[in-house]
Amino acid sequence: MDMITLGENNQQSSQQQSSQQSTTDQLKKIRSALRALRDAVILLNDDDGLEWWNQAAEDLLLLQSSHHGKSIFDFIDVPEFRQYYESKVTPNDGVHLVSWQDSNRYLKCELTPFGDEKLLIIYDVTRLQHLEQMRRDFVANVSHELRTPLTVLMGYLENFSDQPDMPPQWQRGFELMTQQTARMNRVVNDLLLLSRIEIEETHELHYIDMTKLLTHVYDDAQAYNQEYEHSIHLQIDTYDGLYGSEMYLNSALSNLVINAIKYTPKEGNIVISWTKTSAGCQFSVTDDGLGIAPQHVARLTERFYRVDSGRSRETGGTGLGLAIVKHVLYQYDTVLQIESSEGQGSTFSAVFPAVHICCASID
Ligand code: ADP
Repeated sequence: MDMITLGENNQQSSQQQSSQQSTTDQLKKIRSALRALRDAVILLNDDDGLEWWNQAAEDLLLLQSSHHGKSIFDFIDVPEFRQYYESKVTPNDGVHLVSWQDSNRYLKCELTPFGDEKLLIIYDVTRLQHLEQMRRDFVANVSHELRTPLTVLMGYLENFSDQPDMPPQWQRGFELMTQQTARMNRVVNDLLLLSRIEIEETHELHYIDMTKLLTHVYDDAQAYNQEYEHSIHLQIDTYDGLYGSEMYLNSALSNLVINAIKYTPKEGNIVISWTKTSAGCQFSVTDDGLGIAPQHVARLTERFYRVDSGRSRETGGTGLGLAIVKHVLYQYDTVLQIESSEGQGSTFSAVFPAVHICCASID
């Protein structure tokens, strides 16, 4: 009996040994795979000290074995990185930095906390950044180049359309040409505006009197509202203003209000509001119009995305309005929130964080 138990024990321990061996082999493989990765991988302890790193991290941050335990901030001493690292809600998209060793190189840092430790991965995104820059330049150049020919076309079309002896069979053709060139002009202007907003990363900050700006947006909305006959209310609950670029903010907020008018059947109700919240100040536009089916909501801020392209064109839309809104809101570190229910209406809102808020009395 004892002999059998001994045999079983031997068998168990040799099974344990071989499973330990296979775990060790797997760990070795994972380590060598991480070492071979072209992206820099760094394991950080709960004191933000370096625990482990791969070859790419060694090359990028010039690490040596004596740097074990040293703070990551000794090697990445960039305010944007510290801000990202210390923020409670780390953005999913990581933080983009210009390399501190070579200003032509772009990096993206992504932090993944697990337990008390953190995994930091640094990607070289130089190629992507250059492609993105090429895309921006291309769109800006094409839009710019189209501007002059369009202005000439529109000018002549206007002159010809005014001719009293215009043959009736040409009239419809001229009408359509005038409409379509005007539409193309709106698309080109919106593309140029979008390019300017994207390029102007650091723009001059001014105090924006939100009461004045929203009253202006409201007056423009009333003028646009004549054929829709909606009842539009402006509700301003705080005198707090913002620091930013007034022209872009005006475009963004007007786009949201004009959309509420356009996508609400006649005689609807629209409420524009500016209120104080615990996180800052909130702008919102609520309508009781067409609403949007849930599958479209996430894609609305993409360029040229429309739920119903026929309706958008009919109402003079370019399909770029919400993309403009999204980019303007980026400048205030906020995002567009959309709540909508098909057939019942929508609320488009954004909370401007306290750092961008400015009280009227300061300026
Ligand atoms: P457009 O020029 O087509 O209005 P936008 O980018 O401003 O372009 O809006 C994108 C799409 O979002 C619109 O085509 C429309 O389908 C939808 N949309 C925007 N605002 C509203 C709203 N208040 N109610 C319903 N649909 C809306």
